[in-house]
Amino acid sequence: MKREMIYEGKAKKVYKTEDKDKYIVEYKDDATAFNGKKKGTIVGKGVVNNKMSAAMFMLLEEKGIPTHMIELINDRESLVKAVEILPIEVIVRNVAAGSLAKRLGLEEGTVMDKTVLEFCYKNDDLGDPMINEYHIAALNLASEEQLKEVRKYAFNINEVLMNYFQERGIRLIDFKLEFGLYKGEVILADEISPDTCRLWDAKSNKKLDKDRFRRDLGQVEETYQEVLKRIQ
Ligand code: UDP
Repeated sequence: MKREMIYEGKAKKVYKTEDKDKYIVEYKDDATAFNGKKKGTIVGKGVVNNKMSAAMFMLLEEKGIPTHMIELINDRESLVKAVEILPIEVIVRNVAAGSLAKRLGLEEGTVMDKTVLEFCYKNDDLGDPMINEYHIAALNLASEEQLKEVRKYAFNINEVLMNYFQERGIRLIDFKLEFGLYKGEVILADEISPDTCRLWDAKSNKKLDKDRFRRDLGQVEETYQEVLKRIQ
């Protein structure tokens, strides 16, 4: 049973339930990019992201990675564990793209010799600045042990997802994760969707993710549906 809304973000709303340990997440069609400067709607996105996240979290659970997922409720809503989100965005990169390509002067699509892990401070007013492990410790954003778990899970998740997408003709270029604390344990939270991953078609390298919206590449809605079709 949905109780009061406790949070409304750019793409999701979070509601309390009658159980203090469970929240309901509702996915919206609203899309933003460039720290909220670009706004729009991607019709059907909320349904795709809800269903895809549920499928990804269930897959990860099967592989031994704890997540906040409890169950899919309907097209747009999922029941999740009530976590306290660590204010850190964890970015995993296999191929240079987006801000990394720009920052390091690499052509987008350059395959890197090693997977890169980055952290950003989750703070909209500051535009989610990149930080390192010293900043995390200095600002007390996570403990040393929590960060160790985050790092381990991030690389494990990358392995699982890369294989999974590869079998579906998709290259996993990069993605963003958020973790939360549930009864003192670090677990994966937030979402895994075309909003938070760069996914390229394995044959054509066509972008199958939010870059279609960010960069006005067209066929935005169709692409979200295509990704869902490939994973179902
Ligand atoms: N990302 C995200 N939310 C953010 C920033 C990045 O989900 O607030 C994802 C993005 O979709 C991509 C990866 O993290 O899959 C790396 O993004 P990047 O740092 O290149 O930033 P962008 O180019 O999106 O500004």
